[in-house]
Amino acid sequence: MSESKTDIVVVGAGPIGVELAVALKRKAIEYLHFDAKQVGYTISWFPPQTRFFSSNERIALAGVPLQTPDQSKATREEYLAYLRSVVLQFDLKIETYCPVVGIERVGKEFLVTIEPATGRRRVRCKHIALCTGGTDKPRRLNVAGEDLPHVSHYFRDPHTYFQKRLLVVGGKNSAVETALRCHQVGAKVSLIYRRSQLDPKSIKYWLLPEINGLIQEKRIEAYFESQVVEITPSEVRLQRSDGKVGAVAADFVLLQIGYGQDTTLLELAGIELSGPCRTPSFDPNTMETNVPGIYVAGTAVGGTQEKYRVFIENCHVHVDRIVNSIIGATPPPAPAPLVAPES
Ligand code: NAP
Repeated sequence: MSESKTDIVVVGAGPIGVELAVALKRKAIEYLHFDAKQVGYTISWFPPQTRFFSSNERIALAGVPLQTPDQSKATREEYLAYLRSVVLQFDLKIETYCPVVGIERVGKEFLVTIEPATGRRRVRCKHIALCTGGTDKPRRLNVAGEDLPHVSHYFRDPHTYFQKRLLVVGGKNSAVETALRCHQVGAKVSLIYRRSQLDPKSIKYWLLPEINGLIQEKRIEAYFESQVVEITPSEVRLQRSDGKVGAVAADFVLLQIGYGQDTTLLELAGIELSGPCRTPSFDPNTMETNVPGIYVAGTAVGGTQEKYRVFIENCHVHVDRIVNSIIGATPPPAPAPLVAPES
C-alpha cells in the first residue's frame, strides 16, 4: 500500500472543511483533504431551489462574499456554485470520493487509510481534523414497510408528487417545508405528526401561517397526535395517542423526521461520545478532542442534534481555533454570540 506524508489530514469538504482548508493554505500548513463524496455533498441532496434559512453573510466562507442575484438567501444551487468557486479561487486540492476507512496512532503520528476506487492508500500525519457533519443518515421509524420503494427519507424533487397522494411524516421545518412545496406543486398532501400541533417556536414564521391555514381549510389533511405503525404499498396505518387506529391512502411517503450522525470515524479515532446526542468530547478553545492531535469542527461537534443549536453560522470560529492550536498560538477570542441563529 502506498504511503504519503503531511502535517494535517482534513476529512470532510462541507462548508467548514473547505473554510479550514483555505485557512491552512493561507498559513502554508501542509495538509491533505479527503471527502467520501463530493464537495458540499449534504447540500447537494437538498431539493432543487431550496433556500437556506441562514442569511448569506452567515454562511459565507473565508471572507469571500456570497452574493445572490436578487439579494435573497442563497439557494442550494447558488451555494453549491459558491462552494465550487471558493475551491477554485484558492486552488484547493480536495480528493473527493475518497472515504477515510482507518485511523491508527503510530507513536506521535497517525496513519490514515483512504479507500478511493483506485485502491487503498495511507497517509502519515501529525494532526487530523474531522469536519464530517452530523446528518449522514436518516432517522428511522422502525416500522414495517419503511423500505418500500414509494417511501423515502429524502425529499428531492417536488415534481415527483404532482397529482399524487403524498403523506409527509414529521412536524418540524423539513416536514412543513416539504408539505408546502408539494402542495404548491399539485400533490394531495397529508401530514402525520406525533404532537398535538406544530410548535410556533420551532417552525419558521414565514412557513407557519401558510401551513396552519391550509390545514384549517383541510387542503392539507393533518393527523396530529398520531404515529405511523405500518406502511403498505397503498396506505399508511397510524395509531392516535388515544389508542384509535386508522389508515391514510398514499402513493408516496416522505419521512421528514430528521437525520443522525454516522459516528464510525469518530469511534474509530477513539473519540469519546457522550450524552443523548452522542457529542464528541473536545476542548472548546482548541477543538482538540480527547485524542491529542485529532480535532473536530463544524456541525460534527453537535453529534446527532435533537434540538438544533450547531449550524454553519456558528461554526466559523472552529477554523481559527484549530489553526491556532496547530501553530501554538493562543486561541482566538470567542465571537459575540449570535443574537438569533437563523438556521
Ligand atoms: P428535526 O428538527 O430534527 O425534526 C424532526 C421531526 O421529526 C420532529 O418533528 C420530530 O418530532 C419528528 N420525529 C423524530 N423522530 C420521530 C419518530 N421516531 N417518529 C415520529 N416523528 C419523529 O429535523 P428537520 O425538520 O429535518 O430540521 C433539521 C434542521 O434543518 C433544522 O435546523 C432546520 O431548521 C433545518 N432546515 C433548514 C431548511 C432550510 O434551510 N431551507 C429546511 C428544513 C430544515 P418532535 O417535534 O416531536 O421532536
